[in-house]
Amino acid sequence: MDIFCKIINKEIPSDPVYEDENYIVINDLYPKAPIHMLIIPKKHIESISSLDDSDSDIVWWMFTLARDLAKERSIDWYQLKFNVWEKWWQVIFHLHLHFLAN
Ligand SMILES: [Zn+2]
Repeated sequence: MDIFCKIINKEIPSDPVYEDENYIVINDLYPKAPIHMLIIPKKHIESISSLDDSDSDIVWWMFTLARDLAKERSIDWYQLKFNVWEKWWQVIFHLHLHFLAN
């Protein structure tokens, strides 16, 4: 089981930035920017490349969450990023959206 599923199942303690029944947002343990959050759906999906059409709502809500997190924090400029597979630094094979800001 990947580390995000363990966090979602509370097998590993975490201090979520946000959590609801379908999503959890945590701070990246190895931040690449002063603000570096990971927006993670609780449904286990390995990667963008393994999404199927029925997952479109999940991805839509990931972006909506990113927008709302930015608004709540008055962050106007930020980067949203998916890494897809090892060669592009996907380290954990559970879908997650990087939210980076200064
Ligand atoms: Zn998982």
